[in-house]
Amino acid sequence: MMNSIVTDAQVGSRNATKAFDSAGAKPVLEVNGLEVTYYTDLGRARALDDVGFSLGAGEKLGMVGESGSGKSTLALAMMRMIKPPGRIEGGSVIVDGVDLMALDEGGMRRARLSKIAYIPQGAMNSLNPVIRIGAQMVDAVKSHISGESKSAIQDRCIHALRSVDLDPGVFRMYAHELSGGMKQRVCIAIGILLEPKVIIADEPTSALDVVTQRQVMETIDRVQSQINAAVILIGHDMGLMAQFVDKVAVMYAGRLVEVSTVRDMFTEPNHPYSKALISSLPNLGNKGVFRGIPGLAPSLLRLPGGCAFHPRCEQAMSQCSTVRPESTIVGNERLVTCHLFDEDAAK
Ligand code: SF4
Repeated sequence: MMNSIVTDAQVGSRNATKAFDSAGAKPVLEVNGLEVTYYTDLGRARALDDVGFSLGAGEKLGMVGESGSGKSTLALAMMRMIKPPGRIEGGSVIVDGVDLMALDEGGMRRARLSKIAYIPQGAMNSLNPVIRIGAQMVDAVKSHISGESKSAIQDRCIHALRSVDLDPGVFRMYAHELSGGMKQRVCIAIGILLEPKVIIADEPTSALDVVTQRQVMETIDRVQSQINAAVILIGHDMGLMAQFVDKVAVMYAGRLVEVSTVRDMFTEPNHPYSKALISSLPNLGNKGVFRGIPGLAPSLLRLPGGCAFHPRCEQAMSQCSTVRPESTIVGNERLVTCHLFDEDAAK
């Protein structure tokens, strides 16, 4: 649920120029033309359609959109963890100069956790209840690198626990002895064990109370700056995102429809879907009037022709139901996928 109250002060508290500063540097993550299709008994569902973006070291990107828009599929595709009947059909994911899509299985296994780490949705519930936290962390290290001594691995685990503000004693504890927030921090500690260049956290604060949500987000913020990783936060809560990310990417029906700095997104969203998402947020200025988004997100098995958002779009034009909009860079390096910003279609 997008349920946090957003104030101008919160949005304004972000360093709005940071994304532009780092945009000049060589990105640590480049995703180009990523395509994923699920071949189901009911038909072919294009879950990711030509998705591309880049991130610099130390940058944080919030990935938002309704359920089924492709956010989690994007994370799984970047980790090469799409299972049949899904298939990655094209594209590249370049981390620190290495295209993960071109690696063999062994190379990809080593890249996970050392180049790119994924903290899946509900990760805290996947901790093994009968194995001590420390043993699970040691196993994670051993399954991705070899040749490190037992004491060095243990030091690495303790260091990671300290980084997420957990007492080293947690190493000897079981998951049932920890609160939800502590378990989530253990999962973050596992994610940073090998100091990856890119961290993807899928709904890292779901099922946590608001105070713990904030603590978990602050933990991610801190560990990210310690290891200077690029971070992708997947979530529904744009209000929480506004306080922690540098850029926001909006997904709809498997496509990126807008990417911009958090300030631009919240003060002047370009895409009609982004505008609808922002105006559906509670705001101190709204005085209790909330605007929902009309209609439902389309099934990926039966996407509308042209722009997939056109049946719900208040600004739809004649070509929107037949011509697919392409992504365009506008203004301050903002990506928008909409005919309103397509000069050729507007003529
Ligand atoms: Fe609306 Fe047309 Fe833009 Fe799609 S392309 S978001 S239907 S104006």
